[in-house]
Amino acid sequence: MVFGLDGWRRRRALERVVIPDDLWAATLREYSFTRGLTTEQQARLRERVALFIDEKSFSGAHGLELTDAMILAIAVQACMLALELDAEVYRGWVGIIVYPSAFLPRHTWVDEAGVVHHDDRSMMGEARYDGPVILSWDDVANAGAEDGANVVIHEFAHKLDMLNGTANGYPLLHKGMSRQRWSDVFGTAYQDFSRCVDRGVYTRIDPYAAESPGEFFAVLSEVFFETPDVLVLEYPDVYEQMCQFYRQDPATRLSPREEAGA
Ligand SMILES: [Zn+2]
Repeated sequence: MVFGLDGWRRRRALERVVIPDDLWAATLREYSFTRGLTTEQQARLRERVALFIDEKSFSGAHGLELTDAMILAIAVQACMLALELDAEVYRGWVGIIVYPSAFLPRHTWVDEAGVVHHDDRSMMGEARYDGPVILSWDDVANAGAEDGANVVIHEFAHKLDMLNGTANGYPLLHKGMSRQRWSDVFGTAYQDFSRCVDRGVYTRIDPYAAESPGEFFAVLSEVFFETPDVLVLEYPDVYEQMCQFYRQDPATRLSPREEAGA
């Protein structure tokens, strides 16, 4: 009985991972984009986080000792992204490796002329297809600032994008979403943004987004959750598509509500 087994696994996982109330509250306070969640969403987030921590294997590299607070910080951000998505979206891989600071990926690739290249740019995060997510703790620790930059959201957006192949900015869309519309809206915005970056125009969105359509989607996911007003202003059609994709509307959720009777 598949359902019974899943239910049993879920119960066992929730018994194994108990998140203390004070640590939970402190972590949510750290990440502004968790503001405005309903009680039901908060409860679901907490359960998803516990299952995520149980299912993933967290390891510190270069002698970094991971604390419960560090693991929780990563899990909350990753699960926030997928809060309204299928519970299985992060299945199929287990490793989360955390370096103390920016790391060298040691990638090699062979170009069309047969020359082998070594990637020597230090990175704050990396998501491997069917493999681990790698993060720099220095950058995770700074991710709480409400500035539209968040390495955890970035890497896990790549993971969602990879559910239908490479991270190309064209993730698996939900029923009822139009592939054509997604392509048109993102394509137009990407061209516009790349032109601005090429001309050296100041952009409120990280110019790294112009690197490729895959990076555009990941960087815009950071903006969508952390500073959604920027995306609403710059690319409203992209914002609307992302609302449909993530099934969240952070601009509305994070906007200050009028106090009753004020
Ligand atoms: Zn990226």
